[in-house]
This record gives sequence, structure tokens and C-alpha cells, in this order.
Amino acid sequence: MAKLTFSGGIHPSGKKNATKDKPLVELAAPEVLYFPLGQHIGAPLKPLVSVGDRVLKMQKIADAEAFVSAPLHSSVSGKVKDIGMYLNHTNSKVLTIVIENDGLYEEAEPIHTQSIDDLSPNEMRRIIREAGIVGMGGAGFPTHVKLSPPEDKEITHLIVNAAECEPYLTSDRRVMLEMTDDIIGGLKCLMRLLNLSKCYVGIEDNAPEAIALLEEKVKGTGIEIKVLKKKYPQGSEKQIINAICGKEVPMGKLPMDVGCIVINIGTVAEIYRALAYGIPLHRRIVTVSGDAISNPSNLYVPLGTPFSYLVDACGGTNEEVHKIIMGGPMMGIAGVSLDIPVVKGTSGLLLFSEKYTRHEEELNCIRCGRCVNVCPMKLLPTTLDMYSRRGDIEILIENNILNCMECGSCTYVCPSKRHLVQSIRLGKQKINATRAKEAKK
Ligand code: SF4
Ligand code: SF4
Repeated sequence: MAKLTFSGGIHPSGKKNATKDKPLVELAAPEVLYFPLGQHIGAPLKPLVSVGDRVLKMQKIADAEAFVSAPLHSSVSGKVKDIGMYLNHTNSKVLTIVIENDGLYEEAEPIHTQSIDDLSPNEMRRIIREAGIVGMGGAGFPTHVKLSPPEDKEITHLIVNAAECEPYLTSDRRVMLEMTDDIIGGLKCLMRLLNLSKCYVGIEDNAPEAIALLEEKVKGTGIEIKVLKKKYPQGSEKQIINAICGKEVPMGKLPMDVGCIVINIGTVAEIYRALAYGIPLHRRIVTVSGDAISNPSNLYVPLGTPFSYLVDACGGTNEEVHKIIMGGPMMGIAGVSLDIPVVKGTSGLLLFSEKYTRHEEELNCIRCGRCVNVCPMKLLPTTLDMYSRRGDIEILIENNILNCMECGSCTYVCPSKRHLVQSIRLGKQKINATRAKEAKK
């Protein structure tokens, strides 16, 4: 089978051996869990519970009226201990519902009881929203919104992103191997919802066992497995669309503008559980790895569990921890504490010792052009870097800085160790701050 790819990109070492063959371990919930309200892109949620209330496992505890939002559900039964400001996955203190686990795991009623075969497309969208499902790859965009394109956008391609191109992470691989039937069930529902007879699952060639299993199981379903060359950032939306259907999403446009919807593989499994059994999103798979972790693992974790609990479940640390990363090493965020809880978008928790966290001195640009060659968005990272540092936002906009997806490929290849992605991020922040100031005038 031909292996598909996109132009640009890099080939970092996969570093997946520590966890790729480790089956999922279901983690028991801790005594106290933390549910930050901002776990999605969209309108902020309001708590539906008060301090002292008893809540059930899978009970909705926060919601918003806005369409672009996704409710939040408790992963345990217990008592609301506090609603206050606690650390979240962006290293900020945000409004958080704190629940004391009573160990009884008494469950709320399912969010619906209809037969999955009787659900209309709109009923499916409503259930997916009610289940609080957002992109599990880390973006946090509400899935029901993605599945509701405007009438003038005809969707021709449903693409499932199982590329998992970030080093270390293996949670999507375990979903494919251990939740295969949920994936196939979810894809059949999504094809019905979007009125499509086919869909495509993109998997990198470094997961041959998942490719073989899915190829065997999807025969006769209309689901096609597309084998992708291992390359970073193969899992970003525009790159996977380009690799699988050869379409270019123009600058500033969305996948739906070229007839595509891209959904993460873990999200598909959650969709199936919501539609088939009425189960809301209340746990997720997290790869815990890095050289400082004693026993790297793939854990199935109740949402709201603090990172320290995951580390203990992996046998603790074997080195002094110098860096905590939430997500993968390329696009993840450095964490300031192990008190931060697992949220819907937590795909990985990486702990590194000093030897993996060297700070190298920035040198002058030698105009080698490597950053330009690898940029998957066809940008000029060296130009963006220069004008970001100068704060010249007009030139930055002219050079399409807002199309930078902050993949870090340019920084990875730069021989002068320029902090390109960091500088570009700063340039984008300056543009947003200027626009916000102008809007207030
Ligand atoms: S971080 Fe931005 S500029 Fe750098 S390679 Fe990625 S998309 Fe291009
Ligand atoms: S890779 Fe680094 S040194 Fe080479 S052109 Fe880009 S910024 Fe300059």
C-alpha cells in the first residue's frame, strides 16, 4: 500500500518504545478530584452544583447555554468540597469544582436511552453535545459544532486522525488496539450523521499492529485505512487532509471549506459510548512517560485526577524532575506543578530529568534556510522571528503569521538554536493584544 505524506515536516525520534506495547491500566479515582471549568474552546461554563451538594458519577456539573460549549461531568460520586480558583492545564488559576470521592461510584442516569439505530443526525449531535465531547487530541473544540457545518458547506470527506505524530505519545495506538469495536461503531454513526458512504482513518506506518487489526475489522464497512509516512506534524488537520485527499486548505480557511471534517480517533470512541450507551465523557487515556518516570504506562484516568496520582501509579520517579510537559514534547505545554488535574485534552504527561532539558544559547541566524524548508505551512520562520522581535505587526500579518500552527519544526532544525516558535508565538500575542485594544476604543 502506498504511504501518504505532506510537504515539509521533520523526523524526530519516536521515543514510543517505552509505552507502545503497554496495555491500558484503569486507574482508580483518588480521594479528591479537580474539575476546571475551561476545558473546551467556546463559551465559559457555569457550575450547576453548590458546595456541599452530593453528586453522582457521570452527573453534569457545569454547562453553558451557548452552542459553542461543552458541559462537564463528574467522574466519581461524592460531595462538592469547594468551588474556587485552582491550577489548571494552562498553569493558570481558574474556577474549578472540587469533589470529594465517596468511593461508592453511584451513577447518574444515562444521557439518553434510545436505540443507537433510531437516532437521527440532529439527535446524534444533541447527544454528542450533552456528553461534553470535545477534540481529545488536545484542541478542545466541541465536537457537535464540528459536526454541524453550515448548509452551504458540502462535506465529502470524513478523516479520522490516528497519526499520533508527537514523540512519546501512544494513547491513540492503545485506543486502536483495545477499543477497536467502539471506533468502528462510532465511525458508522458519523458516516450516517454526515450522509457519507466512506471515511478514512490515517495511521502512521510505525503502528503496524494497529493498521493490521483495523484493516481486518473494517472490511465491508466503507471505512478505509490510509497508511501515512511517519513524519511530524502529520497529525495536524491541514497536513492529514493534504496527505489523504491531496487537498490544500487555503490560508485562513477551515477544513470544511474544502469539504473535510477531521476527528481524532479517541474522540470517535467517546462518540460511540455516548450514542450507544448514553455515557458522557468522564475519563481519558493518558500516556505517562519521559526518562524520569520509573514505569512509563498508558493509563485510563478519571477526569479531575491530579498528575501526582498518575506519577505514583507509574512507580514514582527515578530521577530528579526538571521538566513536566503536558501533551507531547513538540506542541505540549510545560507544567508548573503535579497538582494540575487531567482534563479532556490531556493526551500525555512527560517528566524529564536535567539531561533532557538542556538550555542552549541562541546564536545569530546563518541564513541556511532549513526552517523554511521544513515549515509545513510554507511560512518564512526567520522573517517572522525578526519582525516579531521588532514588534512590527503589520509585516507579521502580511507574512501570514496567524497561519503558524506553532508546530515547532523550525525551532527543531535550526542550527543556531533560534527560539523561533517562541518568538512567533509572542508576535501573535502582540497582534491579539493590539486588536483587543482597538476593539475597546
Ligand atoms: S512553528 Fe510555525 S513557522 Fe515554525 S515550522 Fe511550524 S508552522 Fe512553520
Ligand atoms: S534555520 Fe535558523 S539559522 Fe537557518 S535560516 Fe532558519 S533561523 Fe536562520
